[in-house]
Amino acid sequence: MKLIAGNWKMFKGPRETREFCDRFHPPEGVEAVLCPPDVSLATAVESGFTIFAQNVHWAADGAYTGEISAPMLLELGVDGAIVGHSERRQYFGETDEMVARRTVTALEAGLRVIACVGESLEERQSGQMAVVLRVQVEAVKDAVGDHERLVLAYEPVWAIGTGQNATPDQAREAHAFIKGLLDVPVLYGGSVKLENAEELLSEDGVDGALVGGASLDVESFTAICRTAANL
Ligand code: PEP
Repeated sequence: MKLIAGNWKMFKGPRETREFCDRFHPPEGVEAVLCPPDVSLATAVESGFTIFAQNVHWAADGAYTGEISAPMLLELGVDGAIVGHSERRQYFGETDEMVARRTVTALEAGLRVIACVGESLEERQSGQMAVVLRVQVEAVKDAVGDHERLVLAYEPVWAIGTGQNATPDQAREAHAFIKGLLDVPVLYGGSVKLENAEELLSEDGVDGALVGGASLDVESFTAICRTAANL
């Protein structure tokens, strides 16, 4: 069964979250996950859907202003968390070490984790893609191995929010490389929309999708889930 996760980023407060959840009816045959911003997690949990946070801290509690811990998420009824999203790496200085620490703590606490990896355009164009992916994947692998609650997301930075998705060949190649390093399910993320979902999700080694922009609209996200369910 494919896993289709909607990363809402910094969109949708509790009111819009409730509206979305009331209208969201994912089909059978796909695992749909919603990843709202922290203020909307409680509202989303009430809906009964599988809910992931967009980040999680490595400490159980402490003087970490603005952060949220795994035990807090579990208390709320949240199922998992994304870690290492490229926007966290790019704008908030997340390093591979921080991503690994977040992953370990979240898994040990009982959460599921989607750990994101992916190369920038410069890295791809200068032939560094394999090196970058290896370093990012091995940081997680060395910390937790092929944990049963761990999923990776291949999210080429140049494809996120740009409308320029990886081609199915590029996705297949990257997923095969990643799975050769760490044998866990790998989602594709980067400008997934209804128009390209079928060809990307049909590729070998593409176990689902992490969807940003196209997950904000309930009809478009439902249609992507339906595409995945019908494969
Ligand atoms: C994301 O935020 O993880 C993402 C893949 O965004 P988009 O689908 O908008 O490219």
